[in-house]
Order: sequence, then C-alpha cells, then structure tokens
Amino acid sequence: MEPERILQILFTLEDGLVIETVVIPCNRDRTTVCVSSQVGCAMNCQFCYTGRMGLRRNLTAGEIVEQAVFARRLLSAEVGSITNVVFMGMGEPLHNIENVMKAADIMVHEQGLHFSPRKVTVSTSGLVPQLRRFLNECNCALAVSLNATTNEVRNWIMPINRKYNLGLLLETLRQELRFKRNYKVLFEYVMLAGINDSTEDAKRLIELVKGIPCKINLISFNPHSGSQFRSTPDAKMIEFRNILAEAGCIVFLRPSRGDDQMAACGQLGKPGETQAPLFRIPAQFQTLLET
Ligand code: SF4
Repeated sequence: MEPERILQILFTLEDGLVIETVVIPCNRDRTTVCVSSQVGCAMNCQFCYTGRMGLRRNLTAGEIVEQAVFARRLLSAEVGSITNVVFMGMGEPLHNIENVMKAADIMVHEQGLHFSPRKVTVSTSGLVPQLRRFLNECNCALAVSLNATTNEVRNWIMPINRKYNLGLLLETLRQELRFKRNYKVLFEYVMLAGINDSTEDAKRLIELVKGIPCKINLISFNPHSGSQFRSTPDAKMIEFRNILAEAGCIVFLRPSRGDDQMAACGQLGKPGETQAPLFRIPAQFQTLLET
C-alpha cells in the first residue's frame, strides 16, 4: 500500500529565520513528526542539503517543542494522532544538546506532551562526548548516522569523523550500552551508489557493529539539486540487506521519506548564496562521480 502524503510545515521564527517540520503518516497506528533542532547545520555532511546552509543558530527548547505541539494540534484531525517524534529535521541535535534534552524532557513528561521515551528519537552524526552524555542523562531513543564503513570514506562524506572516528564512536556505544537495559541504538546508513554499497562494505559493517545492541536502517538516498551522489539501485540494496540479515543483524530497508523510516537527518532547508564547501573527492571515486 502506498504511504500517505508527507506534510511539510514551515515556521517563521521571531527573527525571521525559517525552519521546517515534517509530519509523516506511516500507517494507521503510527504518525511521526520530524522536528528541527537548529536553523541550518554546521556538520557539512557532503550528501546533505541542510548541511549546505551552514549553521545559522540553535533553536530554543520552546521552538523545538512548539513544532510537535503545533503538529499535534493542527494536524491530528487530518492524519490521526502523532505517535512518534524524531529529531531528524534541520540540524545536528547533539550540537544543541542543552535545548534538545530540555525539549525531549518536555515531550516525554506526563505534564508535557507525554510521549513514551521509546517513541522520541534523537539522531546524531556522531558527536561522541555529547552522545555519551545523552545516553547517561536521557531515556529517549538514539539514532546514529553511520553511512560509511571506513574512516577514509566517512572523513570525506561526514567531516565530524575527522574529530571522532568510527573506532571511537562505535567503542563508545559498545561501552555505554552495556549499562542500558533493553536499549538498541538505531544505525542509519544512507546508501550512495558506488561509495558505500559494496559487498565489502556490508561485511565491514557486520564487523563494526558487533557487540552493539542495534538495528540498522538502510536508507535510499534522495538526490537533491547540486548533489554529486546517486542512489543505490533497489536490487543492490536488497543484496546488501541480505548479507547483513544472514549474519544475524536486525536490518530494514527504508525508502527516503523524511521520517524515522528515512532516518537521515536534514534533507531540509534552503542553502543561501554562501554555501558550506564541498570537499575534494578521494581519488578512487573521482571517475565514478565525474562521469
Ligand atoms: S546529515 Fe544531519 S548532521 Fe549531517 S549536515 Fe545534514 S543535518 Fe547536519
């Protein structure tokens, strides 16, 4: 069955900046609101539209919560009640951790919006110290955008990896999750044709996540204007999924829809005239991306 239409809401903030919130009806029992946590984003992931904007400012906790309140009030009649919240709109949530944790607290508090903590998911590109703090201080769910299986590729497509590399990120999760009962981190893996979708990548991914209680979402890349990347064909995504599943991973194939099914933060926003830089393409991918 075709999913129902995604609803996009634009908010103009008091200072005139604009943020986007997305409401995604997933099925009769689940409707997700995807909230922004910043105007723009400083992380400059090379496949991300929001990243091209650079960071304009952090949102306050009130501005974050208001997106869910507004979506719930205005859209409940149209799409049924909002059941899930994902921090996967504009911005790197853990780069604005104080306000994001305040907002998450209000969302799960019984005198606030009273969502179950398992239904509020904060996504990160891998800010390790903040991630550690989040896992220690907040009961909400965590998603980590992985998107590569080598430091070489991740350093290129997600520059945060130059500061907190794959080994550190995954070892931190391995250690921290030992103390959390019944908790699984969600790994997001946006599949980019010829970049991170080989059989070798699948085998490396299995090794990387070993010992970490997790689920893996394989996400179809949604090319945007000016993007140098292409999406992995469906058949190859299925092949990749099967390799992970046969090794015992919990793995899902997700179309890119802007929600926790899409799971990659930030395909939103409007880059202005000044854009964050694109990095030099590693030599082995130059022919692929320049043809
Ligand atoms: S993918 Fe997320 S963290 Fe990376 S630039 Fe986009 S919004 Fe920021």
